[in-house]
Amino acid sequence: MARMSVIVIGAGIIGLSVAYEALRNGAVVTIIDRDPEGDKASFGNAGGIAVTEVIPASVPGLWKKVPQWILDPLGPLAFRVSHTPLLLPWLWDFARAGTKSQASRISEALAEINGRVYDDLLPLFNKVGLADDLFRKGALTVYESESGLLQDKHEWDRKRDFGIEAKEVSAVEIREMEPALGSIVKGGVFTPQWSHVSDPMKVVAVLRNWLIANGVEVVRGQVSRIDPATIGGEIFLDDSRAIKAEKVVIAAGAWSGLLAKTLGDHVLLESERGYNTTIPSSGITLEREVIFAERKFVATPLSVGLRIGGAAEFGGLRAAPNYARSHALLKLAKLYLPGLKETEGVEWSGHRPATPDSLPIIGRSRVSADIIYAFGHGHLGLTQGPTTGKIVGDLLFGRKPPINIAPFSATRFGQTR
Ligand SMILES: Cc1cc2nc3c(=O)[nH]c(=O)nc-3n(C[C@H](O)[C@H](O)[C@H](O)COP(=O)(O)OP(=O)(O)OC[C@H]3O[C@@H](n4cnc5c(N)ncnc54)[C@H](O)[C@@H]3O)c2cc1C
Repeated sequence: MARMSVIVIGAGIIGLSVAYEALRNGAVVTIIDRDPEGDKASFGNAGGIAVTEVIPASVPGLWKKVPQWILDPLGPLAFRVSHTPLLLPWLWDFARAGTKSQASRISEALAEINGRVYDDLLPLFNKVGLADDLFRKGALTVYESESGLLQDKHEWDRKRDFGIEAKEVSAVEIREMEPALGSIVKGGVFTPQWSHVSDPMKVVAVLRNWLIANGVEVVRGQVSRIDPATIGGEIFLDDSRAIKAEKVVIAAGAWSGLLAKTLGDHVLLESERGYNTTIPSSGITLEREVIFAERKFVATPLSVGLRIGGAAEFGGLRAAPNYARSHALLKLAKLYLPGLKETEGVEWSGHRPATPDSLPIIGRSRVSADIIYAFGHGHLGLTQGPTTGKIVGDLLFGRKPPINIAPFSATRFGQTR
């Protein structure tokens, strides 16, 4: 029997994970990316396998905190004025996702997909040669005030409802676990199920090279349009090349909304730009990823150095990065990590593909069952990549996915335009 042909658009962690599953199931796989080896969200992220993150960004009461974040020019949340009018529909849906019942429904869907992460990630890492690049050391969320911890108590309790281990730890215990943390830290929560990778760039490079070595073709090109065919679809590139396949998967990260639009699907997807600095010789050692809860940033000990980052900037896909945000995060980090040396830090920023409800978009397009979406993973793309691959692999081969994917459908954005 002839092997099924599959085109995957996007060579980030999502596209590569989908390609892995399609290949494993016997398909002939082609990945198209305008810059397959180049910089992308999957390249420079914080490296966390953040399975415990089941609380959406939009929650009841969030709006009380937003003004103080926005008023601080280098605070954790920023909007570029020129982009704000375009952002309004997204913001409207973000607000609607923040009711008690919606947040509860979204948490359930996140808990379901995150609950499978290691089932899919471990076999993939083992198969492609990344077994030694995963560190299952948990994460430590730290607070600089008791009231901070108290304010988040309901979120920790909610996580525990889903079987997530979250152990409160005292300041003394924290400094035993992570001696580099200074006296500003007053308490925290240890989440042993969290893990981190050696270096996200290595993860995508190893996976991509493994796929190529095992027969996946990688085509360099900018996709401008997809046309559904009776069977499958036809991809048109900027340079007027056209490629056909029986199945097409759109996994183009924050740019995927533009491609879905060419199929008549209107999805709410925005770039949520994040920033970080990686310091090769930081002068301090951390055992595990540390999350600074009140200030909304993280530090991860990677093989390439200590990566300090965070921030959520909504400015569209074309705005130039503002690295003052990376500097601001480093300054904050010094409050928590007094021994931190800032020299030779490498700054980076990337576009998180953000949906208003913090849920990815995984499922068939409205126009064709052969054209499948796999994007919008926001803060959790590295975490959910292999599981997204597994789900899409099942859809490609007509099997029932291992979890309920109804909450991830593109139809949740209402009418197509
Ligand atoms: C600062 C920061 C920290 C993060 N930390 C974490 C973390 O700790 N844990 C975690 O799980 N997640 C984290 N994330 C989120 C994670 O990085 C993303 O969700 C994930 O990388 C998205 O992967 P992707 O494959 O969908 O998109 P991308 O990695 O952006 O890849 C999309 C690819 O599509 C290609 N493409 C786009 N349009 C076209 C087109 N028209 N034609 C051809 N090619 C196209 C691009 O060139 C690109 O290669 C973080 C993100 C940021 C920015």
